[in-house]
Amino acid sequence: PEAENVKVAVRVRPFNAREKQRDATNIISMEGSTTFLFNPVAPKEEPKKFAYDFSYWSNDGYIEQDNGYCTADPSHPNGSKFADQAKVYEDLGRGVLSNAWEGYNSTLFAYGQTGSGKSYSVIGYGPNKGIVPLFCEEMFQGIEEKKSSGDATEFEVRFSMLEIYSEVARDLLGNTGNKKKGLKVREHPKKGFYADGLKTYMVTGYKDIQSKIEEGTLNRSIASTNMNATSSRAHTIVGITLIQKAKNATGQETAKTSVVNLVDLAGSERVASTGATGDRLKEGAAINQSLSCLGNCIHALAEKSSGKNTRVPYRDSVLTRLLMNALGGNSKTVMVAAISPADINYEETLSTLRYADRAKQIKTLATINEDPTE
Ligand code: ADP
Ligand code: MG
Repeated sequence: PEAENVKVAVRVRPFNAREKQRDATNIISMEGSTTFLFNPVAPKEEPKKFAYDFSYWSNDGYIEQDNGYCTADPSHPNGSKFADQAKVYEDLGRGVLSNAWEGYNSTLFAYGQTGSGKSYSVIGYGPNKGIVPLFCEEMFQGIEEKKSSGDATEFEVRFSMLEIYSEVARDLLGNTGNKKKGLKVREHPKKGFYADGLKTYMVTGYKDIQSKIEEGTLNRSIASTNMNATSSRAHTIVGITLIQKAKNATGQETAKTSVVNLVDLAGSERVASTGATGDRLKEGAAINQSLSCLGNCIHALAEKSSGKNTRVPYRDSVLTRLLMNALGGNSKTVMVAAISPADINYEETLSTLRYADRAKQIKTLATINEDPTE
């Protein structure tokens, strides 16, 4: 196997009501896979330039179809570069699916300030389905196709959904009775860190997954801040395990197991800009601690990838323990950085673009998980 860089994409969403109300102006432009950021207090200055694997323009240049699906408007000047949900899935999600068929682990995480479009990209809203539902639909379609083409492989799909809220990991599915206590994060000698007791559910079709996502979404810890009334202050990790059992040439049964983690991170904004007070402020501090630990790990991993012998502080937060495999171990990793187009979010957007820039330098080494079954 060969070391591979983390794949990084940046996506800019349309202006929201709050930004329009404040007459916000656009400070983002994109050309190919490059993103440019203009400084609103020095608009004549050269824009900052960031090269990623993908830069998605999802601001203007779209039309809403009758069913509510937003797609490129060919008559709009920005229509040709508008990236809809299908485009983002095709570039980022489909590769994760083909890795899964081969038996690789994958992790896709979404980073960005609250309201920047993380959940829109990962989960989606209504007809604008995000990467998770599109991934699941195509995976089950693939299973059906393989079965009907006479493939003797046995397929099993398992689904789990967990959140990390104020450094406590909780199962978002089932009446698991751990809502307060939380799940212990333990270390397995071979597989690394895992949330002990997290339930995984066998799912046989997209409908099963859809209802699990709905259940998990309702169970999330939600608190309101000025940034976004229903902002999630927690990290959500959706886990999909694909197990493929087949007999090899010598008649030995083997199982390929691939774990796909889709991570919707909590908002990356600094506490000051959310107007949080009291409990909410404490919450903000804990989230920032956890995200800044992720930042420290990304920084250390980037240095390591450039040949330095650096210690990576995975153990310093629940999030980085659970993401250890994704970041430095046996996983192919994709990061989506979500940003606002508005001048009033300049500082947050700059910090997101820098974070994403650093993630680009990380290399991971994934191997196929294939073992004989008992
Ligand atoms: P986050 O999860 O980062 O807090 P959301 O994904 O919930 O933010 O997005 C905030 C709002 O912006 C939602 O109403 C969502 O529908 C809208 N939005 C986000 N990204 C896009 C996009 N690419 N196209 C259209 N609307 C979007
Ligand atoms: Mg969200």
